[in-house]
Amino acid sequence: MRMVDALAERALAGGRATRDEARAVLGSNDDDLLAVVAAAGRVRRRYFGNRVKLNYLVNLKSGRCPEDCAYCSQRLGAESGVLSYTWLTPDQAVEAAGAGVAGGAKRVCLVASGRGPTGRDIDRVARTIAAIRERYAGVEVCACLGLLDAGQATRLRDAGADAYNHNLNTAGERYADICTTHTYADRVSTVEQARRGGLSACSGLIAGMGESDDDLVDVVFALADLAPDSVPVNFLIPFDGTPMAGRWQLTPQRCLRILAMVRFVFPDVEVRLAGGREIHLRTLQPLALHIANAMFLGDYLTSEGQAGRADLDMISDAGFVVEAAGEPTLPAARVDAGLPVTTAADVAPARTDLVRLRRRGAGTDLPPNA
Ligand code: SF4
Repeated sequence: MRMVDALAERALAGGRATRDEARAVLGSNDDDLLAVVAAAGRVRRRYFGNRVKLNYLVNLKSGRCPEDCAYCSQRLGAESGVLSYTWLTPDQAVEAAGAGVAGGAKRVCLVASGRGPTGRDIDRVARTIAAIRERYAGVEVCACLGLLDAGQATRLRDAGADAYNHNLNTAGERYADICTTHTYADRVSTVEQARRGGLSACSGLIAGMGESDDDLVDVVFALADLAPDSVPVNFLIPFDGTPMAGRWQLTPQRCLRILAMVRFVFPDVEVRLAGGREIHLRTLQPLALHIANAMFLGDYLTSEGQAGRADLDMISDAGFVVEAAGEPTLPAARVDAGLPVTTAADVAPARTDLVRLRRRGAGTDLPPNA
């Protein structure tokens, strides 16, 4: 039996991959790619059927961040040309969220740039959450506001938030290479606070920042220690004007292997296709749906995604259906239980033409994409 088939069998029985097995999935070659996708696809089908959960991003506050995360187009001093605006009003956020809800999103993700929210920011976001809940009954709300202080998660939960997102992004050992203004421990602490505060924890990673296979395995197992309910997998968009500009290190095949590895470690957890999917997976995006059970619809925080209509067509053409509001995402049992680094020489020419800064939707006068 192939290693990946054995991994699938174990995942179907409730187990997960070991670190060595996760590393072996990343190190597998293109000849075995379809076998890897098929094995991960069996696991995805078992726990999530043919449903795709859609999440929709609303950037409540864009740019001007004092932190220096190297991958981020909103970082301190970035000359990336992204939209820069201060807090959307609750009405503006409701309007922005509406496009995603109309497109089939069952979760709205409210994001703000910055190190973390002040007490006033929490009050402001609480009003926004209430306004969204009032307008769109049954829609889940996730907040992503940076590092949390004690008690803030509880306040967000009491305001009606369902979940909190804070990504670990990369291996702890590498964290100081990508950020100097806060620590890995700060990030871990925020995810723990979100859970302790009664929020569903959403925490994931960014691939393509120069990490090794061991680094990817490290971050995925660090995430597993935090027991998140959802794991967004981002593929670096190397924005001009950031320290990561020009870092094009991913291939569509590599992205699929990363997703499969994450699935084998998180068999019954929501694995979400996140930023960079169009740019790095390109025409292989539909294959990724056989591994991930969720994705963002339409545009991202600072860059434009493919047309929302194209997202929906892709889901349908690949034989999947959009998960309906009110339909549980995670399996009942879970709810009840409460190799070599890719080098520049290996990769196809960078598709820099696919990176488009967002110039529509929240913070602009143009209609959003969903
Ligand atoms: S804290 Fe968030 S918005 Fe600020 S630089 Fe880091 S990732 Fe970007």
